[in-house]
Amino acid sequence: MKKDRLYYNLSEYFRQKYGRRLGKICIDGGFSCPNRDGKCGVGGCIYCGERGAGEHIDATGSIKEQVLSALNSGKPDGRYVAYFQNFTNTYAPINVLKERYDAALVDERIVALAIGTRPDCIDDEVCRLIADYKERCDVWVELGLQTANDKTAKIINRGYTLSCFENALKMLQKYGIPVVVHLIVGLPGESLDDVKQTADYISGLNIFGIKIHSIYVMRDTRLAEMYEAGEYEPPTLEEFVSGATYILTHISPGTVVHRLTGDCPKDALIAPEWNSDKHKVIAKITENMEREGVKQGCFFSPKCK
Ligand code: SF4
Repeated sequence: MKKDRLYYNLSEYFRQKYGRRLGKICIDGGFSCPNRDGKCGVGGCIYCGERGAGEHIDATGSIKEQVLSALNSGKPDGRYVAYFQNFTNTYAPINVLKERYDAALVDERIVALAIGTRPDCIDDEVCRLIADYKERCDVWVELGLQTANDKTAKIINRGYTLSCFENALKMLQKYGIPVVVHLIVGLPGESLDDVKQTADYISGLNIFGIKIHSIYVMRDTRLAEMYEAGEYEPPTLEEFVSGATYILTHISPGTVVHRLTGDCPKDALIAPEWNSDKHKVIAKITENMEREGVKQGCFFSPKCK
């Protein structure tokens, strides 16, 4: 007998929408980040590496070449999401944004455009441009909130406040652009109670999707310095599993779970060791949910914001 699903993952969403699996092509769009170049901050978020959270991307060649290279190594009849992943992919003049997004939509095999960015780089002009792509393909924007706690936001040097996130979300939703929110479990200074508060906050937002990242300490980051100085201790696997389970059980059952782990290149990972095995992490979350007899949205209440 088919088991009830524990959470609504991206593969299921794709199967419902397209009747098939979709591949993801992660693109380095050649952007920068205002939290690195001095516009709103320097040094970046404390966990962010030199590649702006895109360490695994092979950025050889232009955007079109990156996409074509991925398409050529996939199945000829495959269908894909073009995902502008690293740095801040709405941080450029509008004509440059259009040029770069257009370059990724090489042919009918690209059926969706996903754009990762910061809330302080969203305005009406950007929303209008992104909304225009809805005529050509599926579109969504990914915002790296990580935590709803403004004190933690300062510790991690995120460079914007929760109210900035709220304004960007409202604006994107006004243009009918689906939003995926990224959260991190295990940030410095945060306990399980902080994760719960962020989850309760998120559950009231009517978002399309969520990415839950387990924090990792990556080489050559400010977080690595803190770890080495004994100022930061990453969560245990059990602590991460508790946080992820709380989030899953409190968000809407209709929110698509895009990710449940953080992905650090193995040769750059300092800690925690368990982060190197994402299958094990997902298995532990599943095990925990089965043991507790819970599933996504079982404690969801839209009023708990
Ligand atoms: S906003 Fe993204 S790219 Fe910019 S510093 Fe933070 S994690 Fe890195």
